[in-house]
Amino acid sequence: MERLKKKALNLERQRFLGPESETVLDRLHVAVIGLGGGGSHVVQQLAHLGVGNFSLFDADLLEDTNLNRVVGATEKDVERATPKTSIALRLIKGINRTARVQAIRTKWQAEADRLHECDVILGCVDSLVERAQIEATARRYLIPYIDVGMDVHLVEEHYAVGGQVMVSLPGHACLRCMGIISEDVLGAETAHYGEAGPRPQVIWINGVLASLAVGSLVKLVAPWHGNQMPALVEFDGNEQTVEHSQKLRLLTDRVCVHFTQLSDFGDPFWPKG
Ligand SMILES: [Zn+2]
Repeated sequence: MERLKKKALNLERQRFLGPESETVLDRLHVAVIGLGGGGSHVVQQLAHLGVGNFSLFDADLLEDTNLNRVVGATEKDVERATPKTSIALRLIKGINRTARVQAIRTKWQAEADRLHECDVILGCVDSLVERAQIEATARRYLIPYIDVGMDVHLVEEHYAVGGQVMVSLPGHACLRCMGIISEDVLGAETAHYGEAGPRPQVIWINGVLASLAVGSLVKLVAPWHGNQMPALVEFDGNEQTVEHSQKLRLLTDRVCVHFTQLSDFGDPFWPKG
């Protein structure tokens, strides 16, 4: 019985993150939007780190085509069509039973108000339109947004794989500033919606990008390293390299011109009642 009372998660070996890091991480409330290949990796790492509060958003049930990359999923989950939120909840609780988890099995847009209570939003979704919507919501709610984007392209006869992780902070460079989103690519995605079929996904690329995203999050809340956090890092899966984006040099001293209206910042209707 005595053993059961003891907290299972011993974080002694990550104390170098800062003397208060255990408390900071336990009090931290992270929203993870999308619990597929990227999001499931992120959730697993955050649970091991000792993050104490989660709001998990995904409307999907596990399918056999997901089993190549959803961390924590099993064959039984395919048979039972387990919701991805339930798999993530089970994964977190299996690591840290004291974690507080809200598993929200719906499109995040339907419950966007619940993002208000989160300290950081981590987005692991495919659609650029959706990523633009998450960023706009994060700006409005004045919450840091960490965006994970994976790319697989056929270049001549070979595939180019990789992606990027962007930290989008209110008042600073946004996905449009970085050239990740533009009206052209949003228009093209909307025009071809449903035609492309499922996008290629593979676990190790997701794993690298998820690790970079978690690293960005930890630097945001426990600045253990002292160095300035790069807003955009790029992973080249073919070359196996991770670099600070060259775009950052072009953006030095520039301010974001995309979120400038009063309605882009702050929600006058929150808190309700
Ligand atoms: Zn911008």
